[in-house]
Amino acid sequence: MSEIRVSVFEGAGTSPQIRTVTRPKVPDKAALIKVGACGICGTDLHILKGHWPKPLPWPLTLGHEVAGVIVEKGPALEEDFMGNPLTVGSKVMLPPLMPCGRCYYCVHYPKSANKCLNPTYYGRYLSFDKPPHLWGGWAEMEYVDLEMLPATKIYRLPDDMSLMLGSLSEPLTSSLRAFKRAVSVGGFQVGDTVVIQGSGPIGVLAIVAAKEMGAGRVVVIGAPEKPRLELCRQFGADATISIDEFTAAESRVEAVRDVVRGFGADVVMDCSGHPSAGPEGMEMLRDGGTYVEMGQFTDAGSIDTNWHRICVKDINVLGSWAFTANDIPLGIGMLHRAADRYPFDKLQTKFPFSEAGITEAIESAMDMRVVKATIVPHEGIG
Ligand SMILES: [Zn+2]
Repeated sequence: MSEIRVSVFEGAGTSPQIRTVTRPKVPDKAALIKVGACGICGTDLHILKGHWPKPLPWPLTLGHEVAGVIVEKGPALEEDFMGNPLTVGSKVMLPPLMPCGRCYYCVHYPKSANKCLNPTYYGRYLSFDKPPHLWGGWAEMEYVDLEMLPATKIYRLPDDMSLMLGSLSEPLTSSLRAFKRAVSVGGFQVGDTVVIQGSGPIGVLAIVAAKEMGAGRVVVIGAPEKPRLELCRQFGADATISIDEFTAAESRVEAVRDVVRGFGADVVMDCSGHPSAGPEGMEMLRDGGTYVEMGQFTDAGSIDTNWHRICVKDINVLGSWAFTANDIPLGIGMLHRAADRYPFDKLQTKFPFSEAGITEAIESAMDMRVVKATIVPHEGIG
């Protein structure tokens, strides 16, 4: 086979064209991977709808949930990212986003290397017109070249894993990491009740991740009943709530509370990517619960309206309401230690215990004439 068939899109809203390219010569640290399966991701759909916020180098070959078999490789490409040996015939997957390993984020915030400042994307950003052409997985073969793109990461799949299953490893990982994020803030434990917003592929895979990581009950909110919610139940969702049936946000919150009983869910995970899911999902949580806004695609939206920025920035947004009984001694201790190191006497302004004194204290506080107005019924007792 001297030619390879590749699908190409000219731009958003266009139809795929199958074109042929010359099979590249495979240098020392490169490989040709025969594609067995490559999923269509929500991100691809957004790109094809023209939602991608940055210019893309059309024409390009999409497809980044790829699993395939190495059919040719250079002698210097000996192992995958984890050190597993690679040979012709090895089953592999390639993730779409490959951190550089060298930028400030990769070096100093390795847990946030997904926010690499200089990432390599396969199946996106690389033009069909730029040889060797084969960057996306919606093609007969995908070409990888570690000399040209040193950040390239190849992961070997188990020999007995089907390539269909292997092509789910990238989207499943997105769901798995979202629960890891909840674990990292102490927000997800064995037996927890989890509510998943969204019944698309990521929502379904989030059921798998939740259950494999120890969730107790899992509830999914989504639509339509067929094929999505039905499939969610087949994947082990204990209950599903249809947004076709419960059309108002309040009714969905009530429906979730009916199912989970008690005070609400321990974890709510948004796999819908819909900005309005956030405020609604928070109401499904028990007090003290954990909300995770997961995903990957972003629209360019503004700072004040785009809830999905929480996901895009991969940040922790934490609530803190008052304190617990166990926090008080920490406060006393801190004040005691810090007493001489801060001008506390300038923070506090004393007012006498009298009608006029209390009135003046309140007015001074309201007018911001003083910072901390303090009533002093007995001066000098301690
Ligand atoms: Zn980096």
